[in-house]
Amino acid sequence: SREWHLVARPQGWPKPEDFALREAQVPAPGEGQILVRNRYFSVDPYMRGRMNDVKSYVPPFQLDRPMDGGAVGEVVASRAEGFAVGDHVLHGLGWREYALVDARHATKADPGLAPLSGYLGVLGMTGMTAYAGLLEVASFKEGDAVFVSGAAGAVGSQVGQIAKLKGASRVVGSAGSDEKVKLLVEEYGFDAAFNYKNGPVAEQLKAAAPDGIDVYFDNVGGEHLEAAISSLNVHGRIAVCGMISQYNATEPPAAPRNLALVIGKRLRMQGMLVSDHSALHPKFVEEVSGWVRSGELQYRETVVQGIDNAADAFLGMLRGENIGKMIVGLDA
Ligand code: NDP
Repeated sequence: SREWHLVARPQGWPKPEDFALREAQVPAPGEGQILVRNRYFSVDPYMRGRMNDVKSYVPPFQLDRPMDGGAVGEVVASRAEGFAVGDHVLHGLGWREYALVDARHATKADPGLAPLSGYLGVLGMTGMTAYAGLLEVASFKEGDAVFVSGAAGAVGSQVGQIAKLKGASRVVGSAGSDEKVKLLVEEYGFDAAFNYKNGPVAEQLKAAAPDGIDVYFDNVGGEHLEAAISSLNVHGRIAVCGMISQYNATEPPAAPRNLALVIGKRLRMQGMLVSDHSALHPKFVEEVSGWVRSGELQYRETVVQGIDNAADAFLGMLRGENIGKMIVGLDA
């Protein structure tokens, strides 16, 4: 049986020499295990991150060890209850011809429901990413205008189509070739699409979504994210799914250089304007005035006396000369 090993950690774009296809023994299954002849395995963008020796939400690949990832195959030997020779299973030991899998890490794949390869894509991890990312993370609702990058890829193509099926007012996609753009509009039913290599993303997005967008599903990061922020309407939402434009970068992008951590840490960033929250005002006054009276809440003020000094007070505040609220006091 052959299996792929990572033999060097890539710097920038991975090179063929960073990988090696090596021979390995086909072991017999132990108790609770199945031996699977893999029929398909997945190659995914997140695997690039696993080639770096950094702590992340999935552990790095080890050098000179088989790589892993999603795979589907046929059980050829079983010592696990519920799994018989001939069953098809989805599991996590890809990048190899034969996989010795703990049965508790395998799930059955019904080839009647979809072609086996579909369990790695349309009905698999990438399909689920599209579905959950759009409906839960981006809180998509009927009538939203949606923009998705990486739109001809596994996740992106499903995001755009699910948005249409769920009643999006407009779906716009970007992709890296004119052929992909044509596919998005003519086959997948996107309302508009553009090739991000043909010109600035911000301009092309504005032309494709002149009334703005409500949801941005980000697969790419960088210039796409910047353009989307410009085109997003009030109360718009961004699902930060991936930032593939940066996976092979050797230099960090401009600050925030660690923006991609929002993915692994599942951070939620949401803008706010105090004026939206006026319904909370009575509660605020009641609670905070109580704390002030009881001394539980401390505050200081910096009062600059005299209207003549107002401009200095303002500039002083910008320089940090205030402690607490900077206020101008008028002479009595
Ligand atoms: P895709 O099928 O979309 O394949 C990757 C695509 O990325 C390529 O086809 C290419 O298309 C595009 N691409 C590569 N470089 C760039 C670039 N510099 N700028 C713009 N596009 C680029 O992969 P997936 O659907 O599997 O994944 C899409 C994204 O979703 C990735 O960012 C991935 O990391 C992320 N992801 C996140 C998950 C999560 O749980 N957060 C789960 C699964 C995926 P093109 O020709 O258009 O450039």
